[in-house]
Amino acid sequence: MSKLLPLVIAPDPILLEISKPVTKFDSTLKTLLDDMLFTMYRYEGVGLAGVQVGVLKRVLVMDIDYEEDEDAIMHHGRTCSHVHVKNTNPRFFVNPEIIEFSKENSAFKEGCLSFPDARSEVVRPKKVKVKYFDWDGEEKLETMEGLMAVCIQHEIDHLNGITFVDRISKLKKEIIMRKMIKLKS
Ligand SMILES: [Zn+2]
Repeated sequence: MSKLLPLVIAPDPILLEISKPVTKFDSTLKTLLDDMLFTMYRYEGVGLAGVQVGVLKRVLVMDIDYEEDEDAIMHHGRTCSHVHVKNTNPRFFVNPEIIEFSKENSAFKEGCLSFPDARSEVVRPKKVKVKYFDWDGEEKLETMEGLMAVCIQHEIDHLNGITFVDRISKLKKEIIMRKMIKLKS
């Protein structure tokens, strides 16, 4: 049974830390990935990095395709811990690394589970080539574009202690950080 993990909400010093590479593909890792995916669906995100659940390991889960099940809506606001999603396409990335960036950029209005309700347009390379290990510990090479490219860059940033507000203007970052501090107090 998957477990709901507590989300790290900004500002939190752990979000500035650099995550460590995974060295063992064991059941502990799979349990973590599984719980992270469950947590990501539960909070309706499209990506989640280990550090966002307080684990400083270079691991990510992503799904940019799933939809919420209609009959799940009535469960909202209650203590239902089940996740009602359909058409899922979960992706797991262990020790991901971008080995090529396109020169061409594109902008996307990004959000983050560690920054509830905050969104801001971020400019990033449009296409990236990513090296990673998958669920089975197999090394993969994949070229990504569109939302997938946005998401993987956002998530890999997390592994390096960088959040999306570090990629926008100082003024916009300040506005969001003030909102976050208020939310926590
Ligand atoms: Zn994020």
